[in-house]
Amino acid sequence: MRITALAGGVGGARFLRGLLHHLDSRPPAAGDGPHEVIVIGNTADDVTLHGLRICPDLDTVMYTLGGGIHPEQGWGRAGETFGVAAELEAYGAEPQWFTLGDRDIATHLVRTRMLGLGYPLSAVTEALCARWQPGVRLLPMSDDPIETHVVIDDPDADPAPDGSPAVKAVHFQEWWVRLHAAAPARQILAVGIDQAKPAPGVLDAIAGADVVVLPPSNPVVSIGTILAVPGIRDAIRATRAPVVGVSPIIGGAPVRGMADACLTAIGVETSAAAVADLYADFLGGWLVAPGDHGSVMPDDVALRAVPLLMTDLEATAAIAGAALDLAQELAGESAGR
Ligand code: GDP
Ligand code: CA
Repeated sequence: MRITALAGGVGGARFLRGLLHHLDSRPPAAGDGPHEVIVIGNTADDVTLHGLRICPDLDTVMYTLGGGIHPEQGWGRAGETFGVAAELEAYGAEPQWFTLGDRDIATHLVRTRMLGLGYPLSAVTEALCARWQPGVRLLPMSDDPIETHVVIDDPDADPAPDGSPAVKAVHFQEWWVRLHAAAPARQILAVGIDQAKPAPGVLDAIAGADVVVLPPSNPVVSIGTILAVPGIRDAIRATRAPVVGVSPIIGGAPVRGMADACLTAIGVETSAAAVADLYADFLGGWLVAPGDHGSVMPDDVALRAVPLLMTDLEATAAIAGAALDLAQELAGESAGR
C-alpha cells in the first residue's frame, strides 16, 4: 500500500508516528510489497534566522519519526541545551523570541551549508533523513522558498490618510511565536507561492498513491499552503486514490495551538465541518470526534466519528487505522460502481 500524506509540524508528525505504528502492527498481506509512506511536508513556516535556514515543520516530522523529538513539547530535540542561544542573547543578537537549541542548530548548519552549495531543499532533506531514518520518504512541498507572512495592525505607525489603521506584515513565526497569534491577522499570505513548483516526486506521490491522507494539521498554514503550491491541489483532485482526512478541530476548538486565529483570518468558522468544506473539492472521507458527529458535511464526504485525541501512540495508531479503513471502504465503493 502506497500512502501519501500531507503534513505540517506537531499535529502531522504525531499522526504519522501513529500511522507507522499501525502499519507495523499490520504487516502487508502475502504477495503485497511493503507499505510505503511518502510525506509532503509544509515549508511555508521556513525562516532564516542568524543566517541559518530553518524548516520547522520538516524537522518536526524528521525528529518525531526518527526518535529525536522532545517528547512533551512535540517540537525541538530531546535533551536539548541552549548554550548558543545564551551567547546570542549576550550579544543582543535579534531576534530573541525564537530560541534555537544547540542540537537543533547542527541540523540548520548542515542545511544552510548544503543550500549554499546549490543543493535543492529536497536533496538536503534527503541527506538529513539519511541520519534520522524516519521510515517515510519526506519531501518538501517545494524546493522554491515560500514564506507565510501575516498582515497585522501597526500601532506604532501613523494611520493612513483615510483614517484606516496602519498595517505591517510580519513573518508567520513572529506572529505565532512572539505574538502568540493574538494580534488579529488581517491577511495571511504565502509569499513566493505563485511562482513555486512542487518538489521532485510530489506530484507522482499523489498520482501514484493508493490512499492520500490529511493528518490533523493546521488547515490554513500547513495543509492550506501545501495545497496552494501550483499543481498540488489539481493533482489531489485528479488522483484515483481516495482522500481521507482527520479533523484538527474538536468541539469548535483546535486541540493545541491557535489554528482558530488562522481560520478566522480567512473567514472560516472554527469547526470540523468548516475545515472539511475547505477540502470539499477532493475530500472523500473525514474523521471527526464523537461530539462533532452531528456536523453537516459537504456533499459526498463520508463522515466517521472516532476519538481523535492523540494522547499516546496506541490512541494515535487507532486514529490512523480508522482513516485507512475509511479509505478502503471508499476505494471499495468506487471499484463497485
Ligand atoms: P504545527 O505545524 O506544529 O502547528 O502542526 P500541524 O499544522 O501539523 O498541526 C497543528 C494542528 O494539530 C492544530 O490545529 C491542532 O488542533 C491539531 N492537533 C494537535 N493535537 C491534536 C490531537 O491530539 N488530535 C487532533 N485531532 N488534532 C490535534
Ligand atoms: Ca508549522
